[in-house]
Parts: sequence; structure tokens; C-alpha cells
Amino acid sequence: MRIGLDIGGTKIDAVAVSPSGTVLDRVRVATGFGPEVVVATTLRVIRSLTDHTAQSASAVGIGIPGLIDHETGWVRHAVNLGLSEVALGPLVAAATGLVVQVENDVNVAALGAAQAMGLDGPQAYLNIGTGLAAGLVNDRRLWRGARGNAGEVGHIPVLVDGPRCVCGQYGCLETVASGSALAVAWPGHAGSTATHLFDSADAGDPTAVAVRDRFVAGVASAVRILVVTADVESVLIGGGLASLGERLLAPLRAHFDDAARTSPFVASLDLSARVLLAPTDQPLAALGAAFLAPESAVTAA
Ligand SMILES: [Zn+2]
Repeated sequence: MRIGLDIGGTKIDAVAVSPSGTVLDRVRVATGFGPEVVVATTLRVIRSLTDHTAQSASAVGIGIPGLIDHETGWVRHAVNLGLSEVALGPLVAAATGLVVQVENDVNVAALGAAQAMGLDGPQAYLNIGTGLAAGLVNDRRLWRGARGNAGEVGHIPVLVDGPRCVCGQYGCLETVASGSALAVAWPGHAGSTATHLFDSADAGDPTAVAVRDRFVAGVASAVRILVVTADVESVLIGGGLASLGERLLAPLRAHFDDAARTSPFVASLDLSARVLLAPTDQPLAALGAAFLAPESAVTAA
């Protein structure tokens, strides 16, 4: 079996998966904070999965936010986890004796979404969470690009004189189409910003309608960019705001259908049919981590 861990800011979600893709066991625990605690919790989760299933693991995949060197297994700048720099892959490999792969959290979710939805060929997974980023997959293998930047669509500046982005640029797509963008545009509803906004827009509040439509147009831009640059077959919408479900998908498709009426080019892209919701009832990142390609493995130093 293979083990996949999704190390998030609040919890570690982990699965043990059979070679055919069946989930044998799942564990969720609080992540903790700082390198010693995160590494110790990671090892405890791996041990608990091997104990529960009474099977030995052939490989461990880990998805984690931050700057990831997938060749060495080092993690840097995972601010929410209190990790400025940690040799996560080598430490876990040394403690368990297993082959370990470490990858960016959005990339593993992309793999997991393609796996869960049974999609082959080129696919993009657009993660709309606090930030905005995509992972690219081809035939259920990651495509990172030459330097690992493929899919970073959130940091394409799209607004002249737009607000400063966390990346240091101005007017990035992330400042329009992300959870943090909504928190600025529709303030005062911490924890339920998107739901509150969409409820208010549905109730006819004109300000809410404008904020929602601007957000939807931003997400639509991200989808278009992924289709016209990578020509992926589908763009799978995931991340925290994907829980909006049809409430997001319907206006998104309406936006594409409107554009297609006046643009033969947009019509030829068939965007409405190519944008899909990733499943929200499965641990996509943990699943994807379990299926990371073996060539990215790191072993104990
Ligand atoms: Zn940016």
C-alpha cells in the first residue's frame, strides 16, 4: 500500500491506499506548529496507518504548503505551519525507512482530483482558497514545468493600478479571485464570507451582485488562461471556495456562454463544458500524495 498525507494549517489528513486506489484507512489529526511538532505528528500518522491496516507501506507521499523542493524533500516558508526551513522528506525517510516524496499542496490535490474523477490526458486543477493557484496534470502525472512554476496563474497581474498582492506585484488575479480577495471586497463576515456574499447577491443586494460578478469574472479569467496556455481538457475547480458548488459553477458557465455569443473564438473553446467541480467529499490532496510519481522520491540523507 501507499500512504498519502495532506499537511494543512490546522490538520493532517492522511490515507492508506491499495495499489488499485482503494482507500484502506484514513486518519485526521491536528497538525501542531513548528518543525519538531509537525515532523513528530507526521511520523505518528504514518505509524497509526500501518498499525491500523497491519500492512507495510511501499511509499509515502506528502503534500504541504510552502516552497517545496520536490527533488530534495525540503520545505521552506510554510508560514502557517511555523516552518521556515525543514528537511521534511529526508527526516521522514530516515525515521521510517520508506521512500518519501514531498510536493506542493495544490499539486497533490490536482493529482488526487484527476485520480478521483478518473480523468486522463491534460487537466488543470484550479485551487480557489485563501490564494489562487493551479496544478497541472497529464495522464495522472504532475507537470511542474521547467522550474516548478507551471499553473501559478494567481500571480498574473490583470489590473492596471490594482492593489498590492502578497507576492509584491500589483493587481494580480489573486486580488480578484480568491478567498482573501473576497474578504477585502465583502468584509465583516469572517469564516463565511463567500456564502454570505452569494446569499446577499441572491437576495438582490446590488453591491453583493457586483462583488460576486467581479469574483466570477476573475475565476473565469483563470479558467481561460489555463485553457489557452496549456490547452487542458478540463479545469477542475477545487479549494475551499469550491464548496459553493453549483452556486459558483452556474454563473461561471453563464459568463462563458455570454462571451461565446459574441466571440467565435470563445465559442470554439467550449469553456462551459470544460469547467468542472472537483469532488468536495474526498480527501483529494491526501489521495494525490499517495500517488505521487516515484521518480520524485527522496531518501534519507
Ligand atoms: Zn501576486
